[in-house]
Amino acid sequence: MENIASFDLLRKLWRAYFNRDKQIERELKILKKNIQYYASSILCFPFAIPDNATIHVTYQCNLNCPICEIINIPKRDKLSAPEYNLTTPELESIAEQIKKMGIAEVMLTGGEPLLRHDLINIVDLCIKQGIEVDITTNGTIINEKTARDIASSKIRHIQVSIDSLNPEINDTIRGKAGSFLKAIEGINSISKHKVIIKKTKYDRPTIGINTVIIDKNLQDLVGMVGFFKKMEVIQIVYLPFVTDTSNLQNIDSASSFWPKKVRLEALDSAIDQLVKLKQSDGNFINPHQQIEYLSLLKKYYRNEIEVSKFRCLSALNRVVIGPNGDVAYCGGSFGNLRKKSLSGIWYSNRAWQARKQVKKCKNPCLQVCMGKTECENIKTIFNSFTGRVKKLY
Ligand code: SF4
Ligand code: SF4
Repeated sequence: MENIASFDLLRKLWRAYFNRDKQIERELKILKKNIQYYASSILCFPFAIPDNATIHVTYQCNLNCPICEIINIPKRDKLSAPEYNLTTPELESIAEQIKKMGIAEVMLTGGEPLLRHDLINIVDLCIKQGIEVDITTNGTIINEKTARDIASSKIRHIQVSIDSLNPEINDTIRGKAGSFLKAIEGINSISKHKVIIKKTKYDRPTIGINTVIIDKNLQDLVGMVGFFKKMEVIQIVYLPFVTDTSNLQNIDSASSFWPKKVRLEALDSAIDQLVKLKQSDGNFINPHQQIEYLSLLKKYYRNEIEVSKFRCLSALNRVVIGPNGDVAYCGGSFGNLRKKSLSGIWYSNRAWQARKQVKKCKNPCLQVCMGKTECENIKTIFNSFTGRVKKLY
């Protein structure tokens, strides 16, 4: 029976391919890339062009989230110094190098990227290279002018961090009173200006939410879906809490933010409901990930992830650039763009050593952009491909 179904699938695939079906071409590209990532991860060498470059344009931030390592950076008051902030011309050169490597997307993040007065200029530099630009922000300093600038720029997507629907809880996590209301106002301002400027409600930039799962917000996770669906938000990305953002492999489940043992049932219940919601509307919750990823979060908070089953693509699927030009993976820097070219760093011996460290990771952090459950092995790669193709026909 299974053979007949597979034959049927192959037949449809064959026809669709020769009819130049765009969706099939897209699925085949994903299949090819997953195979390349799998080989890259085994051999610690990048065979695939990374999906994305993430640039931390500054580490300055107006908030004080106790869950963020940035607030503990020594000499935080010096973070506005030029040595910690790539200049606009340096960023222009980096955008050119990103384009040269074939990377099609850039995420501008921080700290708080909107603290850079030249942010829209940086966006334009990337767009000039034909690169799509997304930004992440805490949303709290978006005033009318910023909202108008964002709406009239060609930013593709803006992802806003909100961790709870309860303003008090959200503001405790964000380290500043009033953060929740300001972020909501920021989202509404962008939506308003988008409509005025673009005249069409669903034009760019689209808006999404990042939510870190911690002990204090478990009761809110599911309600956020309905709440944000009523606003002009297209996605929520639920992220696991990491205890040390400067080295993701350091996990401290004794942290007060980590869900306590007695709260694990509440966590399971929330995850089960999110899985069901994702089954009915796969694009709203963690749209770039397989459903298994959400389920894995239950194991994550119990420290039960089977390391052998998790394929991390850190230093392979995404180039991460710090505000001082460091190119980094979860364990630190493996080169600096003020001293060497991006491709020189990416294909260097130090990058190879970093990827070997990734391979030895004992504490998978499940960060949304680093792991791919479908790349676990050749079988999972093909299963995810055929699963997606089956849904199409
Ligand atoms: S808003 Fe973001 S960068 Fe700023 S302190 Fe909070 S987590 Fe860190
Ligand atoms: S899963 Fe990857 S990114 Fe996360 S800690 Fe391990 S090696 Fe680092």
